[in-house]
Amino acid sequence: MSEAAVKLKKVTEHSPSEIEKVKEWINSEDYKEKNFARTALVVNPAHACQPLGAQMVATSFEGSLPFVHGSQGCASYFRSTFSRHYREPAAATCDAMTEDGAVFGGQNNLFEGLENAYALYKPKMMPVYTTCMPEVIGDDLTAFIKNAKQKEMVPEELPIPYANTPSFNGTHIHGYDAMLRSILQDLTQDQKIEGKCTGKLNLIPGFDGNVGNLREYKRICELMDIPYTMLADSSDVFDSGCDGEYKLYAGGTKIEDAAECINGKATISLQKYSTANTMKFINAEFSGDKEVMPLPFGVKKTDELILKLSELFDKPVPEALKKERALAVDAMTDAHQYLHGRKFAVAGDPDYLLGIVSFLLEMGAIPHHVLCSRATKKFKKEMDALLESSPFGEGCTCYINKDLWHMRSLLVTDPVDGIIGDTHAKWAARDAGIPLFRIGFPIIDRVNLHRSPVVGYQGAINMLTMIANKFLDIKDETCEDQWFEMMR
Ligand code: SF4
Repeated sequence: MSEAAVKLKKVTEHSPSEIEKVKEWINSEDYKEKNFARTALVVNPAHACQPLGAQMVATSFEGSLPFVHGSQGCASYFRSTFSRHYREPAAATCDAMTEDGAVFGGQNNLFEGLENAYALYKPKMMPVYTTCMPEVIGDDLTAFIKNAKQKEMVPEELPIPYANTPSFNGTHIHGYDAMLRSILQDLTQDQKIEGKCTGKLNLIPGFDGNVGNLREYKRICELMDIPYTMLADSSDVFDSGCDGEYKLYAGGTKIEDAAECINGKATISLQKYSTANTMKFINAEFSGDKEVMPLPFGVKKTDELILKLSELFDKPVPEALKKERALAVDAMTDAHQYLHGRKFAVAGDPDYLLGIVSFLLEMGAIPHHVLCSRATKKFKKEMDALLESSPFGEGCTCYINKDLWHMRSLLVTDPVDGIIGDTHAKWAARDAGIPLFRIGFPIIDRVNLHRSPVVGYQGAINMLTMIANKFLDIKDETCEDQWFEMMR
């Protein structure tokens, strides 16, 4: 019988007028109220899952092969997200647990996976982290890894630090933190020597998808003549250059440097919320000074970092950095009128949000909606205090544990001029008819932004150039003929 003879009504068929009605309704205050009353569903959260953050750390040490204990699909998601963001291969292996592993436990998968991965890829370290499935069934990684070594599937001396990274309890920043702590615990074991000081700075950038930022930190240390070890350094791993030869282990923090960092002169973490547990361990075990600084977005926060480095290492601020600062202040003055008084929405990770908001306040821009998909009341308190510190922060609301569908409701009912966030915010931006300024992770729909630093004086220039020029583009594209000016 032909399709024409049987007239089927599709269950999801709606008339054009119904569709228009709903389109209008989802932009209303009434819908916003219902949207904010939702409790059992998350739509488009501005974060990724725990093991993805663990993988960023696991891959950032020299010769280190990240090892996913769990499902193949999860491992593909981590790899593909990194590959899309950095446009580079993201090597990681997985023991591909399936139904039998879920029933009987994943020890056999781990045994086979570790043995094969070591035989094939000869890593110097294999950090293991979990997906949700082995966490739900309660796999005991301590015992499994010990057993694998006892059965000589991998050498006894091979470092296999592990982190439990259940995604139903945390995000990529928590996975980053758990894995970094575990790697440092493993590599620094028995390395502490009383009275010994490497004279070096341990610099922890925190979860940061911008390799340009990491290089900016290193450049600042080199300009100040401060010896450093970056923990963990993903810059050359995820931005290794193209010389015709694939390198499985391209860059990363040297294992020996990481092992001796326990005897460092000072340790600075630049992300409070993505290194909270790591810093607890460092505070208890490491020698030297320990500091948690804000991400150096904008001039004020960059000044704070440079002055702290100068104080800790008794080094003067070099002329080159003073000149960079002057250039940043000049660039901010030149672009000031294009950002001053503009309203922004911002979504992202806690440390990034604090940095971006601080930069906006410095420029006289108005952060209006700040949204973090997973944060504590402590973070909200810190954000509120930052907003209260400036007249430009007045009237801004910080939303925690809300998603980008909530953000969409905010944008259409209480409009702003632009939104700052990662690629996931593009739907909300499109529905609200405002530009999205891509700062954060992941950025998978534009190229090379991960190479352009947003921290330090240079980062301040890059951010304000991107934002001011976009507003000028919009003006040129939308103004009437009589306002189409040569000079802006
Ligand atoms: S949330 Fe859990 S199941 Fe989903 S990709 Fe992450 S680890 Fe896998």
